[in-house]
Amino acid sequence: MNVNERKIPLTLLKLDAVLGRLQKDDPKIPLLKENLAKIKAGYNGEKAIDYQLGYLPSKDYYIFHDIRLEVNGRYFQIDTLILTNSFILILEVKNIAGSVNFDTVFNQFIQTKNGVEYAYPDPILQLNRQEVQLKEWLINNNLPAITVHGLVVISHPKTIITANNDTLNKKVIRAASLPNKIIQLQNYFQKRMITDKELRKTIRMIKKYDTPLNLSILQTYKINEKDILPGVKCEKCDFLPLVREHGYWRCSYCNLKSKYGHIEALKDYYLIFGNTITSSKLRDFLLISSPSLATRLIRSSFPHAQPNGDNKGRIYTLHFNDINNPH
Ligand SMILES: [Zn+2]
Repeated sequence: MNVNERKIPLTLLKLDAVLGRLQKDDPKIPLLKENLAKIKAGYNGEKAIDYQLGYLPSKDYYIFHDIRLEVNGRYFQIDTLILTNSFILILEVKNIAGSVNFDTVFNQFIQTKNGVEYAYPDPILQLNRQEVQLKEWLINNNLPAITVHGLVVISHPKTIITANNDTLNKKVIRAASLPNKIIQLQNYFQKRMITDKELRKTIRMIKKYDTPLNLSILQTYKINEKDILPGVKCEKCDFLPLVREHGYWRCSYCNLKSKYGHIEALKDYYLIFGNTITSSKLRDFLLISSPSLATRLIRSSFPHAQPNGDNKGRIYTLHFNDINNPH
């Protein structure tokens, strides 16, 4: 299938990394956990949609996941974008349990779960905005005009859907009806609007200008650097920090020995602090005192990373190819 594969959201990995390195009584933990749960639910909903999209004949569709593009100085994000040569389809996926009500009079989207009501931003409004932004983006990039259609997809199979407006059944569908709906649209928009060459150009341009959101988790949640616990973590019992002994990291709690524990620690560092590290920060984070050991560990972990700067102020760039790859 022509799919650019859905990655695990970086924000999810960042929240996980931070939560694993705060003191147990840190007051930020409840909020971080709540937001992590929301992002996980969203990600799971989108994966459920990907499963349904797997039923489509692959040659006719190109599917993008989580793209973020800029138009007139502002960014807009689309969960799932499906390109064909007769139309473009935007999917806004909602993974919400209980019952949901679309209120088009007040533009509200209300979830009722266990007798409690929660209001969310109106997905129809969100979708209309994304449709306009995508059309503008295509024009600004001299790409051919093509019909843009949007659907809200409710991914939770047991969610009860109600609306104050019957025509919404054209805009809101369940995940299981998605393949049929797309085939219906394909029959409806039969006329080919762009050539294969133009379609390939559009795909290339989206790939080129897609800019994933990469905010500092420390800034977002106003977490102090000093509140992040350093050290290599035990992969078996999560104990922190392991001690360096004779070429291994040893857990003083469960006694596990690990040869490559520092790589996971550096992944956490990358997610929490960013992609550059100095030799002294590396020592502080791994809790080792020897500069030559620090150099050895970073060189063996990142053989292609050429340090910048002189001996004292060397800066290494951390790079993880597969950090948000789901496999
Ligand atoms: Zn352990």
